[in-house]
Amino acid sequence: MEKHRESHPQQTKLGRRVILFPFPLQGHINPMLQLASILHSRGFPITIIHTNFNSPNSSNYPHFNFCSFPDGLSEIEASTADVVSLVSLVNVKCVVPFQDCLAKVMSNVDDDHQEDSSTGCLIADAAWKFIQAVPESCKLRWIILRTTSICSFLAFAALPHLHDRDSESEALLPELPPLRVKDLPIIKTNQPETFDELVLELVINQIQVSSGVIWNSFQELEQDALIKLHQDFPIPMFLIGPFHKYFPASSSSLLSQDQTSISWLDKQAPKSVIYVSFGSIAKVNKTEFLEIAWGLANTNLPFLWVVRPGLVHGAEWIELLPKGFLETITGRGHIVEWAPQQQVLAHPATGGFWTHCGWNSTMESICEGVPMICQPCFGDQKVNARYVSDVWRVGLHLERRLERGEIEKAIRRLMVEIEGQEMRERIISLKEKVDVCLRQGGSSHQALENLINYIMSL
Ligand code: UDP
Repeated sequence: MEKHRESHPQQTKLGRRVILFPFPLQGHINPMLQLASILHSRGFPITIIHTNFNSPNSSNYPHFNFCSFPDGLSEIEASTADVVSLVSLVNVKCVVPFQDCLAKVMSNVDDDHQEDSSTGCLIADAAWKFIQAVPESCKLRWIILRTTSICSFLAFAALPHLHDRDSESEALLPELPPLRVKDLPIIKTNQPETFDELVLELVINQIQVSSGVIWNSFQELEQDALIKLHQDFPIPMFLIGPFHKYFPASSSSLLSQDQTSISWLDKQAPKSVIYVSFGSIAKVNKTEFLEIAWGLANTNLPFLWVVRPGLVHGAEWIELLPKGFLETITGRGHIVEWAPQQQVLAHPATGGFWTHCGWNSTMESICEGVPMICQPCFGDQKVNARYVSDVWRVGLHLERRLERGEIEKAIRRLMVEIEGQEMRERIISLKEKVDVCLRQGGSSHQALENLINYIMSL
């Protein structure tokens, strides 16, 4: 086990170790490491257990202990585009090595008893299916971290009861307003039965046997969903988000963040740039990629575009762009492999975010008051997009197929038309709510105090 003994300046020792177990995908690692930093700043010694696959950079966290284990994933298995089979496979491969790793951590904590402390609890990502059985055998209480919105969680929880759930129907779902059938968080996969089984295990069964759930959300944003959540799942819930307002995600980035994004933004006019990124997993095909490229170029507006290696099926990076394209956009468009997203969204030149509506991206955009164009790809993104466009009304939903004319129209609506200005005003008032909820006495601040007391009581 890798051990670091430096103390953290803010830390006053409370003396109950918290073990955190992130799921090895970027959108899950970021919030878990942020949560670890929040708890550490409040005095909890921290141990992170993680897979070798997509392992966080421990040198960015000298004040944590890290314990990694071999997950046995081959390169081909790890790079599958089928998220459902990846989640399922990781869950199968990690059962035994995780148990061994946890046992090692627990015995080290016992050995170090004088210096360290007893273990308070395990906080595990909700995507770990086998976790329910493990802490029981170690006599360890465990709390779930859910990295999604509450509204998308409720939509997942409703799936087993819905008949028409797998279509592009515009029909409203009376059980889940304002969602339509096509907004349900279905994930296309070669293993539909596995998807159903995961929904049952990870959404419905798991929550009933955990000691509580931590959410990267805040009460004022998801008030109605929270009421339903409390009714359906009467266990302790802690909405302490947005996590990244306490600690940024840059330290847990798996890819290196291109800082030319910021120097390029420095040269642009205030609120003039549309930032485009579809997160760490979503993919587009070649035709869609070229439509996006021409849609962006044809607006004549400045854009910062993240083309992650692997974003385009069958391409390394941007080699599919037609000859001369880069010259056409010189000075007006900047393309990077991975951006320091939070800094980009906080930059005064950024005026809009064309996003896949992953929950981290959605929260990051709300926190900086940047209105969105929603382009959800699968799962919870579809629910988040509907809430962004129809409930919070801080973005517009690009619902038709990706086509350059539609893209150009959507970007203009957001960036230069009155409709976009109104969305900007609404998202700025949401941003102000974020500021209030994090202040002393605010809802997330209070929920964090409750969580700390709760962990101490376990
Ligand atoms: N991100 C980043 N640079 C990029 C694109 C994304 O640092 O160029 C970060 C982003 O800030 C967020 C995370 O990657 O914290 C993506 O998580 P999200 O839930 O939005 O989407 P996912 O990748 O899980 O689909």
